[in-house]
Amino acid sequence: MSLLVVGSVAFDAIETPFGKTDKIVGGAASYIALCSSYFTKSVNLVAVVGDDFPNEFVNHLNTNGVNTEGLQVKAGEKSFFWSGKYHNDMNSRDTITTELNVLADFDPIIPASYQNCEYLMLGNLTPKIQQTVIERLTNRPKLIVMDTMNFWMEIAMNDLLATIKMVDVLTINDEEARQLSGEYSLVKAAAKIQAMGPKYLIIKKGEHGALLFHGKEMFYAPALPLEEVFDPTGAGDTFAGGFIGYLAKTGDISFENMKNAVIYGSAMASFCVERFGTERLVNLTETELNNRIAEFKKLSAFNV
Ligand code: AMP
Repeated sequence: MSLLVVGSVAFDAIETPFGKTDKIVGGAASYIALCSSYFTKSVNLVAVVGDDFPNEFVNHLNTNGVNTEGLQVKAGEKSFFWSGKYHNDMNSRDTITTELNVLADFDPIIPASYQNCEYLMLGNLTPKIQQTVIERLTNRPKLIVMDTMNFWMEIAMNDLLATIKMVDVLTINDEEARQLSGEYSLVKAAAKIQAMGPKYLIIKKGEHGALLFHGKEMFYAPALPLEEVFDPTGAGDTFAGGFIGYLAKTGDISFENMKNAVIYGSAMASFCVERFGTERLVNLTETELNNRIAEFKKLSAFNV
């Protein structure tokens, strides 16, 4: 079941209480493509980088089965750059720098071979560009999932609302859900956001797991308590990659199956935070993933 992934492919510089990195590979679509490729070998990427971006990472995506025909490389230009600093609780962070660079005038060209994708994952990106991608697909995918962040709420709220209207599932974090809805209660926020368009909403709560909403139905997936959280960057995108990857693999977009997808997303995210950047995600094994899923099952199973 083919999956189209769009989003930033970038350099990040990260500071956490455990250390600091120079520019390392990051970007929403980097995490999503990498993670979803553990579930399906039909992952197609649309993104843009400058000629400063390392071939090694692109080659690694290709080796994992990600098609990068739709990755534009702009000669003489710089890749998107983001830097952030985490607070001691590792649940909140400050964005220090956002340099759009090649993203500023990104024209998302969809290769002909990517048309007719069944699943579309719109990773964090300018809302207008996310919308253009939907409009450029000849057939509407079976499921459109979209991620976004506060940055876009602050500078492009109208475009964001227009794009949200077009998608099936929205994933955002708790602070962003409150900002978008103006409601403190996440249950009230979920109702308001669903009224904006998406029939399904996932609210990510960092180390406190994730909530899936659909109408009056609600499902909660915990995050796996870990001894050490090294770097939460990309955890949300990794979650999205696991979520959409699992749905694409199983081909079942029912609410019941979305619950499983939320668990797979959470399991993938639990690996992401164990090292800086994409380091822990590049060479995961099926056994590691299966063991983690078993830990998740055990964590919240009980017999009443
Ligand atoms: P997450 O920790 O899941 O929220 O995602 C972090 C990733 O999002 C980093 O790798 C950044 O490169 C990327 N990112 C940060 N800000 C933006 C933005 N405004 N647009 C697109 N991607 C971004």
